[in-house]
Amino acid sequence: MYKAKAYSVASATSPFTSDTIPRRETTDRDVQIEILYCGICHSDLHTVRDEWNSVMPTVYPCVPGHEIVGRVTEIGSAVSTVKPGNLVGVGCLVDSDHTCPSCRADLEQFCPDATFTYNSPDKHGTGPVTYGGYSESIVVDERFVLRVPAHLDLAGVAPLLCAGITTYSPIRRWGDITGKKVGVVGLGGLGHMGVKFARAFGAHVVVFTTSPGKRDDALRLGAHEVIVSTDAAEMQRHAGSFDFILDTVAAEHDINASIAMLGLDGTITLVGAPDKPLPVSAFSLLFGRKSISGSLIGGIRETQEMLDFCGEHNITAVVEVIPIQKVNEAYERLVKSDVKYRFSIDMASLKTE
Ligand code: NAP
Ligand code: ZN
Repeated sequence: MYKAKAYSVASATSPFTSDTIPRRETTDRDVQIEILYCGICHSDLHTVRDEWNSVMPTVYPCVPGHEIVGRVTEIGSAVSTVKPGNLVGVGCLVDSDHTCPSCRADLEQFCPDATFTYNSPDKHGTGPVTYGGYSESIVVDERFVLRVPAHLDLAGVAPLLCAGITTYSPIRRWGDITGKKVGVVGLGGLGHMGVKFARAFGAHVVVFTTSPGKRDDALRLGAHEVIVSTDAAEMQRHAGSFDFILDTVAAEHDINASIAMLGLDGTITLVGAPDKPLPVSAFSLLFGRKSISGSLIGGIRETQEMLDFCGEHNITAVVEVIPIQKVNEAYERLVKSDVKYRFSIDMASLKTE
């Protein structure tokens, strides 16, 4: 075991402070990674503030971070896929049982024994729970280490490991969206990646935002149209016209208003994870035979496919790079939807602690 510098919170109401955490020594199958950038996902905030207590209570101290890009510093004797010096990524998953039907179908995220990158029971016993990427290094089983397109801006690659795969996966799963009318609700970290992928796959992309000031950015990011969702008349003009809507909203909101945008047999997929239930009117689904579904990140194989796709098409997140010392401020801005469009922590800033 060795000690690594990190930023942690001690309780749901504490700010982040500088800390050290235990990391395991590299075992045969492990890869030790020096973390270069880590994105800030709204899931980090939900977890740090224990907003998901009823589903996944937070164990403190908590070190979040599951959008990790770094450089391999050491490998175990049985590791064959990466070498020291390689640029790699780690997303939301660091282990699974490898034998269940979900794992056999390359859907490790649904493995009943999946270990998430932070706040999951630590099977290695290094700590009570796993600690994430707001840290100088991490040690991960090679089967959960991804190859990163080295020619891309690494600060903008980090968010692909969660925001990227979480939006790529449901869009791919929907089928061929070429020429389809696709809505993305919420222009934050996930939403802006959803816009980029939907556009890359040939959809007619429409952003629903509560922030009129994001209109020009939405168009620059690839949206064909932007609807300010608080404008009832604008919403009414698009009612019943969408094939597919991806809802990325992190807080309570009226999902029936989005369902009303769907046409016959339209689907809305939730990736946003508000802490409170969202009431759905039965009638909003019955008329038009509409469907509502959910999606959780993506498996390791699909995450690699997404990273390779981003490498080929030069797709990265739009990031505001911050030093780790600004993390508390970034969280306050995230709550106010003031993120353009992902914070990415430059982990070199941790060296000065
Ligand atoms: P984010 O960057 O904070 O973006 C969320 C966006 O939602 C905001 O920028 C805002 O966009 C909109 N919004 C916020 N409050 C709203 C409200 N009250 N009503 C309507 N719209 C509102 O968050 P994120 O990192 O993209 O994450 C979004 C959600 O997805 C979180 O709940 C997160 O935990 C979840 N998540 C799920 C998965 C998964 O696997 N399913 C993976 C990662 C994250 P506008 O300003 O454009 O309205
Ligand atoms: Zn995330």
